[in-house]
Amino acid sequence: MSIAVAAPNGTLRTGQAARGEFRCADCGYGVTIRRTLPACPMCRGEDWEAWPTARASAPPLGLSVR
Ligand SMILES: [Zn+2]
Repeated sequence: MSIAVAAPNGTLRTGQAARGEFRCADCGYGVTIRRTLPACPMCRGEDWEAWPTARASAPPLGLSVR
C-alpha cells in the first residue's frame, strides 16, 4: 500500500501481455513471463516492474544473469 513507484516506464499490471523478467512492486518477487502477468504468488500484488536486465536487447555472451 505504501509504495512509491517512481518508474512509470517499467511498471505493468496483472493481466497485461508481457515477456521477460519482472519483479513484484510490492515484495520484490521475481518472475519470468512469457505471455501475461499473473498476480504475485507471494503477496497477490498486481504491479510489476520490468527487470532491468530484461531491457538489454542484445545481452553479451557469457553474461547470463539468473
Ligand atoms: Zn509480491
